[in-house]
This record gives sequence, C-alpha cells and structure tokens, in this order.
Amino acid sequence: MARLVFVLVAAALLPVSAAGAQQKPVVVIDPGHDLRANGETEPIGPGSSTRKIKDGGGTSGVVSGRREAELNLRVGLRLRALLERAGVTVVMTRTRTAATSMGNIARARIANRADAALFLRIHADGSTDATARGTHTLYPALRRGWTDDVYAESKRAARVVQGSLQGALGFADRGLHERSDFTGFNWADVPVILVEMGFMTNPTEDRLLATSAYQRRAALGLCRGTLRFIGRPAGSCN
Ligand SMILES: [Zn+2]
Repeated sequence: MARLVFVLVAAALLPVSAAGAQQKPVVVIDPGHDLRANGETEPIGPGSSTRKIKDGGGTSGVVSGRREAELNLRVGLRLRALLERAGVTVVMTRTRTAATSMGNIARARIANRADAALFLRIHADGSTDATARGTHTLYPALRRGWTDDVYAESKRAARVVQGSLQGALGFADRGLHERSDFTGFNWADVPVILVEMGFMTNPTEDRLLATSAYQRRAALGLCRGTLRFIGRPAGSCN
C-alpha cells in the first residue's frame, strides 16, 4: 500500500515539477537613471522621427539629498533578493550607480532579450510642487506596431503592482497613467510598467523613502505585485 501511494504521488507530482522547471519566469528589474544623465537622443519608438534625450538624470531628495538613481537601485537590489528567494530568475539593467545612463532603448532591449515575464522599471517622482505626493504606476498607451502586443498585459501588471506597492508603502494612491511618449515602453516587446514609488520633492515621503524600513516596504510591495501578476503566491515574498 505504501508503495502504491508512493507511485501515485510521484505520478501526480512529476508533470507539475517538470512544467515548473521549464517555465521558471524571468523578471527584468530596471532601477531608473544612473550616476550621470545622458543628453544623447534616441527615437521614441521603432521607425519614429521623434527623438528624446536618453536620460534627464532623475530627481533628488529635498530633505535627504539622496539621488533618485541610488534610491531606485537600493529598492531594486532588495527586490532582486526577494524574487530570487521566491524562485524567480532576475536580470538587472544595472547593479551599481557608477556610469552615464544607458538610455531607454538599451534598457528595453535587455528585457526583450531576456523574454521577461515583466519588465519592471523603478523610479521616484519629482515636482516643483512640494505638496505633490503619492504612489503611481505608468504603463504604455496602445499604439499599433509598437505596444499592441504588450498593452493588455502591461495594463494588468500596472493594476496589480500599483495595488501591492501602494498598500505596502501606505502613501496616497495616485492610480495608473498611460504614456505614449516613453521610449522604454515603445521599444518593449514584453509587458512593461514604471512605478513612481513616491515624491522625493515631498519632505515627508523623501524622509521615509530614505530609510531602509521603507525601502524594504517598497521591495516587498513590488515583490508581491510581481508574483501576483505572474500567477505565483505572493506569500513567497519574505
Ligand atoms: Zn526617475
């Protein structure tokens, strides 16, 4: 009887684990910006005559004095650890803040080459209005030939990840926004979103985001949202 049970259990488990091994998902984490801005231009989409600069450099903390590029990276590295522990393969667009920013076509190509289940771009916001606050998530607007292949899944990812990230940070919910002008969206052939965790120009949010406790909250929220989006239990984030 014990032997029969073993055979039955093995038969039930084998196909599942074999399929799981084949389908180990890849997530590409893109911590926004880098040490230096990049004033070169690139077309905003394949075949476009409209060009934008590669990277304006990002914002910085009004209280902490910290650069956005460094905050994005810290959260990105924490998120990598969480996702890898949950069985996800992670590819980073960068692991240091040490160079001139590579631009957005290059970032999208990393995600395309990895055939990412999600291309997750991590940013923090800046505004001339110090009272502007809250978390929001951007995703590509629908444009035939550029984003029609990733629009629906990107929008679904944005909804799921915004909910988890906003819940983890407890900042105001600014919701979702479609963008047609983001080079890194228009060149992506995989589902893509860009999270703006909070405003570094808001004294309260900057002060909180500068702490390791809030960087961990952000990484946890992003991990849970990512796993929910790819159909894995969000409880694996810890
Ligand atoms: Zn940014």
